[in-house]
Amino acid sequence: MARSYSLVHLADGILLSNLAALVARDRGTTAELLAHIAEVDTRRLYVPEGFPSMFLYCVHQLRLSEDSAYKRIQAARTARQFPHIFDALAYGRLHLTAVKLLGPYLTPGNATELLEAAARKTTREVEQLLAERFPRSETLALVETLPPSPPLPHDQRSPGPVETCASDGIQAAGTLAPRRVGPVAAPRTTVTPEAPERFLFQFTVGRDTHDDLRYAQALLSHVIRSGDVAEVIARALKALIRELEKRKFAATSRPRSGHRRATARRCIPAHVMRAVWERDGGRCTFVGPAGQRCPARAFLQFDHIDPVALGGQATVDRIRLRCAAHNQYAAECTFGTEFMRHKREEARRARAEARRAAAARRLALFRSSPFPSLVLCS
Ligand SMILES: [Zn+2]
Repeated sequence: MARSYSLVHLADGILLSNLAALVARDRGTTAELLAHIAEVDTRRLYVPEGFPSMFLYCVHQLRLSEDSAYKRIQAARTARQFPHIFDALAYGRLHLTAVKLLGPYLTPGNATELLEAAARKTTREVEQLLAERFPRSETLALVETLPPSPPLPHDQRSPGPVETCASDGIQAAGTLAPRRVGPVAAPRTTVTPEAPERFLFQFTVGRDTHDDLRYAQALLSHVIRSGDVAEVIARALKALIRELEKRKFAATSRPRSGHRRATARRCIPAHVMRAVWERDGGRCTFVGPAGQRCPARAFLQFDHIDPVALGGQATVDRIRLRCAAHNQYAAECTFGTEFMRHKREEARRARAEARRAAAARRLALFRSSPFPSLVLCS
């Protein structure tokens, strides 16, 4: 029998008391929910279930909205780092938005004091607190020194008018709180479904892109007489995709006959990459135990079904497409989590060493150059 949600029969006092009890229960549930998200995220349990990220698992498997998933994952990661937050949420000293705002500013040194200072404050008050503690001038220097953030992979962007990342990194006009520009910051772009099969894109571009668009319109003027921007961009994207497929997956409409030259990428011949890409539909092939095929179409890798170290061959039937998360998962299943962690750590150290060496070479060049500023800018 369907539950009735009509409360017209309740006295005012009981209605208010029930509401307060429900809010208290909701706080406790939220804290527990975050603890579960944090643990599932840390164990990466979404990977064997067929998802490349915690965000996509929350949206597609748990059916959370994109906003809700993003906010809860951010808060769960912060709370895992600073466990006092779980209690603060459960007992109503902090709300979820406050945790999300505070997250980028918390350090082991300031967490206790900053969390206490933010207790029982509204969103605006927390923003005010952060503006006072971390003045805008401090963050401006950070903005200038950080490289631009990579955009989210296509299939991890939220469909609809949701800015899963931008909302955390872009300073809204008129608000007081400075926002640290970190890895989660991304250019503000919205994609809004307008009608069936129609979408409204909104983003800003630089002068170069604007001029490129105008030039493309001019070059296409004999084909697209109206100069319709959407049509120009559609053609540009098709050309870009063809080019990228050619480069990344050796795709071509005219394969060279008998072509067997191996590429540098783990010796997979171009014709094998092309056949695998087409067979797998440009999508990760991992399937979870419930039949969920991984939705990832970004960060795909050609995966040897039989590991190369164990004599795996680069033939069409022994190569498959896997996203980075599931490629890593397969390696962990074969070689063990600890072994792969050690390998990743080794690779990370090698990259850091290479960066240090490159920086040292640049510094040496700078010191020996009669025009040091030219060296630094090049
Ligand atoms: Zn995958």
